[in-house]
Amino acid sequence: MAVINRIAEFHDDMTAWRRDLHAHPELGLSETRTSKVVQEHLKSFGVDEIITGLANTGVVGVIRGGSGDRAIGLRADMDALPIHEETGVPYASQNPGVMHACGHDGHTAMLLGATKYLAETRNFDGTVYVIFQPAEENFGGGQIMVQEGLFERCPMEKVFGLHNWPTAPAGQFLWRVGPMMAAVAQIEITITGKGAHGAHPELGVDPIVIASQIVSALQTIVSRTVDATESGVVTIGHINGGHTHNVIPESVHMKGTGRWFSPKVGDRLEEGVRRLATGIAVSFGAKAEVLYNRVYPATVNDAEATELASNAARAVVGEQRVQEMARPTMGGEDFSFMLNAKQGAYLMLGGGKGADDFMVHHPRYNFNDDILPIGASWWATLAEQLLPRKY
Ligand SMILES: [Zn+2]
Ligand SMILES: [Zn+2]
Repeated sequence: MAVINRIAEFHDDMTAWRRDLHAHPELGLSETRTSKVVQEHLKSFGVDEIITGLANTGVVGVIRGGSGDRAIGLRADMDALPIHEETGVPYASQNPGVMHACGHDGHTAMLLGATKYLAETRNFDGTVYVIFQPAEENFGGGQIMVQEGLFERCPMEKVFGLHNWPTAPAGQFLWRVGPMMAAVAQIEITITGKGAHGAHPELGVDPIVIASQIVSALQTIVSRTVDATESGVVTIGHINGGHTHNVIPESVHMKGTGRWFSPKVGDRLEEGVRRLATGIAVSFGAKAEVLYNRVYPATVNDAEATELASNAARAVVGEQRVQEMARPTMGGEDFSFMLNAKQGAYLMLGGGKGADDFMVHHPRYNFNDDILPIGASWWATLAEQLLPRKY
């Protein structure tokens, strides 16, 4: 049991595709070049049909084998992040301030590899939809594709995705039944007080002092209002207010994120953020405006699909390198929208090389090209195992 030989043969091609995407990263819903490059590859592989236009830059390749009417979907994401790359690699981003820092360049290259193999061999009976999804980071391209009729235009039984994971050893698959990744909310709080001279706070209402109280108080939501056996996070990641030493500004703006698994905890977090921010602001004579947008639901793996997905992984990397993930991660993932609409599973594929691996979203992170044929073989094996050819 190992990587599919034919796929190993074009490891160099996949690496070149990945590095080309890496050099030309594009932000969510603007993946124009990426989308075009993916379509050109699909054409050259001889897929039966290419569907474009879903979620603007989304691409779906259709590959038919035999005469069966069963179908599955394989999904990769294509977007990059607003990060200034610091890897120093020769194929580093040529698009300043934009970087493939989550490895979606690698996911796309792996799915292209699986597509090339499946289109060439057709060793399955039915239809495989290869889904190249835009805008996983922040814009919910997965949700848009579902809303725009992905599963009506491409009827399938199950859908499968994966994410590279730099903190797990390269080539190790991690699976989990049930919640795999957290639900996500974006938080924005604007505190409006009254500006004044820094030497005369008595003439104003200081929104910076109020913001400080709010940030501290928000940390009591999880510790004091959520059942200690449940998981939740409230993080404020951005505070902006004022310009100089001696001026009390009129307002302060904060951005943050909320994470949870159980809907009850999700409600607690929202209620807590609203109550504390508005209540504290009012008690100081200011006012707070709170936006709390629930953007992604939790990513929840179906038990049967997870077993099929991990069996395919075992066929590629062996029993020892397929392990249950001890705990879900508090990261979010918009594949959740596909899993809410369709039976399926999402696995992690380790990409770690050693001690100096950077986590995804770090400016020095880089996708590990060694795992390209492993991910491609997993997707191809899933298609062959789930849609077995009749002889
Ligand atoms: Zn990411
Ligand atoms: Zn990602």
